[in-house]
Amino acid sequence: MNSAERPSRNGQPRIRVSFEFFPPKTPEMETSLWECIDRLAPLSPSFVSVTYGAGGSTRERTHNTVARLAAETLLKPAAHLTCVAATRDEVDDVIRAYGRAGVRHIVALRGDPQDGLGTAYRAHPGGYDTSTALVAGIRKLGDFEVSVSAYPEKHPESRSLDDDIDVLAAKVDAGATRAITQFFFENDSYLRYVDRVRARGIDIPIVPGIVPVQNFKQTANFARRTGASVPQWLADRFEGLEDDPATRRLIAAAVAAEQVLDLVDHGVEDFHFYTMNRADLVYAICHLLGLRPRQHADAA
Ligand code: FAD
Repeated sequence: MNSAERPSRNGQPRIRVSFEFFPPKTPEMETSLWECIDRLAPLSPSFVSVTYGAGGSTRERTHNTVARLAAETLLKPAAHLTCVAATRDEVDDVIRAYGRAGVRHIVALRGDPQDGLGTAYRAHPGGYDTSTALVAGIRKLGDFEVSVSAYPEKHPESRSLDDDIDVLAAKVDAGATRAITQFFFENDSYLRYVDRVRARGIDIPIVPGIVPVQNFKQTANFARRTGASVPQWLADRFEGLEDDPATRRLIAAAVAAEQVLDLVDHGVEDFHFYTMNRADLVYAICHLLGLRPRQHADAA
C-alpha cells in the first residue's frame, strides 16, 4: 500500500474507542481517576469499563465506581466481573445489583488463580467454574451485553491457540457479544489471531486491547505474567531512559501511534485502551485516530 492509500492518512474511517479504568484505592486516586474520566469523556467512547480486583478484592470499589459512572455521567459503563472466591449466589447478587444501578454491560472473566499466577486455578465450590458458565449465568439474569477476553498469543494456561479459540467459541455460544484482547505489541499476532477466529466461524468483534507503555519496566513485568510477549525492538526503544521520564513519554506516544495507525491501515476501527487511570497519552492517541471532543465535533 503506498502512503496515499493508507486509511490512517487518507479517508480515515470513523474510529470507535473504549476506555478501561481500575477502581481507586485512596481518596487521592479517586480524584485522579475522575480527572482522567473528565478528560476522556468528551471523546464519546462506546463504553468505559472498570476492572475487578484479583480474588474479588475490589468488589465494593468496582461497584461504586461503575454505579457512579451510571448515575453521574452520560457514559455507558461496563463492570468487569470474575468467578473467583465467590458462590454463584454471591456473583448473581452482584449482577442483580448492577442491573438495579442501570448498568447493562458486564465484562465476564474467569479471573486468575487465587494463589497467584502460575498456580493451578481452582473453581470455588458452589461458584461459577468457568468464564463460559459465568457468561451464561449473566445472560440468564437479564438483558446484559456481555464482553469477554481473548488472547492473541494464547492464555498462559492454555495448551494451544486452537484450544483457546475453542474456549472463545464456547463463550460466544453462551451469549458473549464482544471480545477484548489481552494487550500485544506485534500487530501481526493480533491480525493472524483474528483470521483464525474468523476461520473458526466466530463473528463477534475482536477489539484490540492497547496498552500505552507509561512505564516500560512495569509493562514488561506485567506482560511476562500474562503471556504477552515483549519484543526486543520495544525494549530497545526504551533503553537508557530509566531516569528520563519526559523522553520516555514521547517514546511511549510514538510507539502507541505506530501501533494503532498500523492497525487502522489493516482495517481496525475499534480500540480498547487500558488507561491505567491516566488520560494524557490515551487522549493524544485518540486525537491521532481522528477523535475530537464532542463540542468541537458538533461545531464542525
Ligand atoms: P478464560 O477465557 O476463561 O480462559 C482461561 C483458561 O481457562 C484458558 O486456559 C482456557 O483455555 C481455560 N478455559 C476457560 N473456559 C474453559 C472451558 N469451558 N473448558 C475448558 N477450559 C476452559 N482479571 C481480573 O481479575 N479482573 C479483571 O477485571 C480482569 N479484566 C480483564 C480484561 C481483559 C480484556 C482481559 C484480556 C483479561 C482480564 N483479566 C482480569 C485477566 C483474566 O481474569 C485472566 O487472564 C484469567 O487468568 C483468565 O480469565 P479469562 O476469563 O480471561 O479466561
